Amino acid sequence: MAAGKNGITVVFDFDKTIIDVDSDNWVVDALGATHDFDRLLSTMPWNTAIDAIMGELHARGRTLRDVADVLCTVPLDPCIVAAIKACHALGCDLRILSDANRFFIDAVLDHHGLGGCFSDITTNSSHGQALDRIVRTSSSAAAAGGKKQRFIYLGDGRGDYCPSLRLGREDMVMPRKGFPVWDLICEDPARLQAEVHPWSNGAEMEEMLPRLVARVLIEEEKLPPLPLPLDCKLELLPAAVQDGLPMPALLPINH
Ligand SMILES: [Mg+2]
Repeated sequence: MAAGKNGITVVFDFDKTIIDVDSDNWVVDALGATHDFDRLLSTMPWNTAIDAIMGELHARGRTLRDVADVLCTVPLDPCIVAAIKACHALGCDLRILSDANRFFIDAVLDHHGLGGCFSDITTNSSHGQALDRIVRTSSSAAAAGGKKQRFIYLGDGRGDYCPSLRLGREDMVMPRKGFPVWDLICEDPARLQAEVHPWSNGAEMEEMLPRLVARVLIEEEKLPPLPLPLDCKLELLPAAVQDGLPMPALLPINH
């Protein structure tokens, strides 16, 4: 798999990270099968139960079209669409690492015009091993071109903690604040080598993620720092502006 053009791989979890809900629950609830799904969950693991309930729904005459239609109503914050498009426009290699159903993920991304932004979607419940594979293949592809690859990982759940531990000092983790991954990180922040940048909602992701990408590109000298006016000294700028520096102009984002 080719490394990103700009040397940065951004890996997203899907449920409650890209979308604001759990896609399995959304489909089951929207198709009126919540009670039956709960009944199955009392006797079997989640993935087995979702397979079983999808089989039951099919037997009741529900079609893939019905499933795709309810996936079009999944809430996806326009700010997150904008954040993804901005990172793609900056040349990042975007990937999804999720235990959600692949058909569900594709249907949501296609509905929002995001399908072409991602180079790979891995649906694997072992996030840690899957991330190791992404890091290994991306890094070796970059190394073959005499470059290094840097990683940004975004997630919300317990399953996103293990990948966060595997990233290095030059990488970044964006845990969703107030969600299980954030609580786990807070228990012992020193266990992570990667920089931690928590976010709470789509607006914060849209503000933070492209800025971090731009910062890495400036560190790697792939983008020039924002030029200051000739008669302007940094120490004279308001603190809020200094916090934002260096920040290159980003491409306009259409919500
Ligand atoms: Mg999740």
